[in-house]
Amino acid sequence: MIAAAVSCSRALLPSAMASSFPSSTAGKRAICVWPGMTQLCIRKNLLYGFMRLFSLPFKTLRGVSRTTLGVSRFCSITNMSSSLQIELVPCLRDNYAYLIHDMDTGTVGVVDPSEAVPVIDALDRKNRNLNYILNTHHHYDHTGGNMELKERYGAKVIGSGVDRDRIPGIDIALNDGDKWMFASHEVLIMDTPGHTRGHISFYFPGSKSIFTGDTLFSLSCGKLFEGTPDQMLSSLRKIISLPDDTSIYCGHEYTLSNSKFALSIEPGNKELQSYAAEVTRLRDKGMPTIPTTLGKEKLCNPFLRTSSMEIRRSLKIPPAANDAEALGVIRQAKDNF
Ligand SMILES: [Zn+2]
Repeated sequence: MIAAAVSCSRALLPSAMASSFPSSTAGKRAICVWPGMTQLCIRKNLLYGFMRLFSLPFKTLRGVSRTTLGVSRFCSITNMSSSLQIELVPCLRDNYAYLIHDMDTGTVGVVDPSEAVPVIDALDRKNRNLNYILNTHHHYDHTGGNMELKERYGAKVIGSGVDRDRIPGIDIALNDGDKWMFASHEVLIMDTPGHTRGHISFYFPGSKSIFTGDTLFSLSCGKLFEGTPDQMLSSLRKIISLPDDTSIYCGHEYTLSNSKFALSIEPGNKELQSYAAEVTRLRDKGMPTIPTTLGKEKLCNPFLRTSSMEIRRSLKIPPAANDAEALGVIRQAKDNF
């Protein structure tokens, strides 16, 4: 039961890489993993249920008129169960920044702007201001646009308290378990170290969406630059405790090459075979594979499948090895793939 309004704001220009995706699933109450969130989720879904009821005829017509043009490459899809709109902004070679827009108040944030220009262009196209810059971690390809955007828009920079010395222009330092409000959307901060010491993920339970930076990718996880397999495993376990229909917005479009590695160590995984084929189709058309969903990743991502006997056999991981040891071996094999 998904009510989505489809509008293609940017046509088939090769440079038109911005697209928006549904930020949640309508009709299903979010299963909130933090106490006290349930009421908020119910209220939001009720409210948007009414909004959806009144706006459906218009949205449906709009969707039909645009889709019959056959323009499908970069469509904006606005899910009416939430006022949060998420837009992909491709940056550098394979990075994604994400514009998040609260449609009720016009509040706008950007997650991990590796560079300023594509973000400014995306904001200009819709005549929007920028209120917040959210960083998952300190790496330059996630924070490179911070200072220019902050200066231009007066946006506040939000990042990990652990990395307050390494996040350029940080104004608001948050820590594991903190709740931060983006307009009326509660954002839960999850420490997810492993790739870097101070890596955090931003979870929007009301919209069933999480920004995982370089911790969880589609079909892979981040390299262990500043952490151990144990740390990465526990970060991934935090993320997989969320509902299966959580949308995963990660820092890079690596899915196609990740799928080749995943298939090389678990060739018999039917779900993986079919997802890999879908990924190839999407990338052949120049389309993003993000967002993915947690449910799909649990079935296909080798780093969430450390107990798979097929993976263990492929990499000669002894059955007695624990999940962290297995993850370490899988990571090493991926680094050398
Ligand atoms: Zn990184």
